[in-house]
Amino acid sequence: QEADLVELVEQAADAFRVTHADHPLTVTPGPDSLKLRLDPQRIRQVLDNLLTNAAMHTPPGTQVSVAVSIASGAAVVRIADAGPGIPPADRERVFDRFYRVDKARSRDRGGSGLGLAVAQSLVRAHGGRIDLTSEPGATVFTVTIPLAVGRDV
Ligand code: ATP
Ligand code: MG
Repeated sequence: QEADLVELVEQAADAFRVTHADHPLTVTPGPDSLKLRLDPQRIRQVLDNLLTNAAMHTPPGTQVSVAVSIASGAAVVRIADAGPGIPPADRERVFDRFYRVDKARSRDRGGSGLGLAVAQSLVRAHGGRIDLTSEPGATVFTVTIPLAVGRDV
């Protein structure tokens, strides 16, 4: 089915502002709408997972932002936070099932370590991918969903 990715991001942002009021969220202006073939519930789940991580794994007050854009035949959603970041050695492994960077602290926060593994498989099921860059003060998860796969070819 077709769904509007911009609308999904706005809905996820509205929900985030209610559930994570201690983290200021900026939605960066982009296209008014971006309709493509995707499963809205599954992509909403991906957005919620990434936004929840940006709040759960950073101190209260940490700025979070989300942006939608189109880049070389793909829809791109960028979810960024100004938190402490993910050390280089952990960056590949955070997508592994049950992997958490700081097990004791992550357990306090109630995470199982499944969120990113689930998000990655959902995005891959759409023919896309999730990329990660991180340094202290700037962690960025980028969800890329190709338009060619999302549309009838
Ligand atoms: P779950 O999502 O299952 O509730 P979780 O959030 O711990 O639990 P993942 O979403 O898979 O699991 O994330 C794996 C780990 O990656 C986290 O435990 C955390 O250590 C690290 N991580 C994820 N997102 C961020 C982020 N934005 N900033 C810092 N660390 C992060
Ligand atoms: Mg998570």
